[in-house]
Amino acid sequence: MADTFRAWVIDRADGGQTCRLRTDLTDADLPAGDVLVDVQASTVNYKDGLAVTGKGKIIRAFPGVPGIDFAGTVRASTSERFEPGDQVVLNGFGVGESHWGGLAERARVPAEWLITLPEAFTPMEAMALGTAGYTAMLAVDELERAGVAQGAEVVVTGAAGGVGSVAIALLRGAGFRPVAVTGRETLADYLRELGAVEVLPRATLSEPTKGPLASARWPGAIDTVGGAVLANLLKTMAYEGTVAACGLAGGVEVATTVMPFILRGVRLVGVESVHQPLHRREAIWQRLAELMPSERLAEMSRVVPMDEVPAVAEELLAGRVRGRTVVDVKG
Ligand code: NDP
Repeated sequence: MADTFRAWVIDRADGGQTCRLRTDLTDADLPAGDVLVDVQASTVNYKDGLAVTGKGKIIRAFPGVPGIDFAGTVRASTSERFEPGDQVVLNGFGVGESHWGGLAERARVPAEWLITLPEAFTPMEAMALGTAGYTAMLAVDELERAGVAQGAEVVVTGAAGGVGSVAIALLRGAGFRPVAVTGRETLADYLRELGAVEVLPRATLSEPTKGPLASARWPGAIDTVGGAVLANLLKTMAYEGTVAACGLAGGVEVATTVMPFILRGVRLVGVESVHQPLHRREAIWQRLAELMPSERLAEMSRVVPMDEVPAVAEELLAGRVRGRTVVDVKG
């Protein structure tokens, strides 16, 4: 019998797309690369939600396999960096976009895209973080680089989502005072459990405000929402406060003036997770291992089998998923 594996496969159809769980794929179907990985876990990130539902142009070559990250065990390798049995993690580099991704039982990728899984994590735990957790760590790192002081209040928007939940826990672990902004106030206890010192309703930042500046409060901010929320954040940053902008869950256009920048010295830093160099990638994963206890990860994540991916994708884009969703690709 042929050695087949399962994968979600997205293809073009009548101006739209199909997304099917195929069970008949073989290694010959996989793209080129020097490492073949037995994938154990992947996740549903925001981008995966857009890819699976077809609501965003994420898949760049058809047929394509979604899943912008995965963790698993090396099955075969022609690279000196890895040998069979090594545990690895991958996020970014266009995997799940232009290269077949992690929502599959197997993946073949260039060795330079992989890093060794930190010992602190199982593959499932690594994907409880996934690209969202890695991005949250990058954002915290950017605030530290910008000099936001230990003990300072850092506001996190879209707090009950994937990036937001991990950011709250990491900020608390790194000595900041995270303030959660959420549209789901019923999740206030969850956010406090993760480490939020205060929980504010989304309307605090999403309502239109007059004038180029408002009362200055935040020394630091991690914004996963964009749009009007980011515009209001800029108006309410403290003198020389820093916003790490990483998301667009609420919109891509930001109506602002130069006033926050030239009158308060506000800094706006972009966070990009896809093309970070290997040394920073490894440092960020190592820092995640230091700051994220596994019981926190368990609180903010749940595990689903492969066939639930489309339903999770819809829920995620509707803003109804709490924290992170791990996909057990063997389940
Ligand atoms: P999730 O869907 O898990 O979380 C997004 C959260 O944003 C929701 O849970 C909700 O939080 C809030 N939200 C949703 N819709 C709106 C809206 N219309 N207005 C205001 N708030 C809203 O996504 P992720 O956390 O995985 O990703 C968050 C963002 O970060 C996405 O835009 C994603 O594309 C981006 N991202 C960027 C990366 C990069 O490299 N820069 C890497 C990874 C993610 P609540 O209910 O608490 O209000």
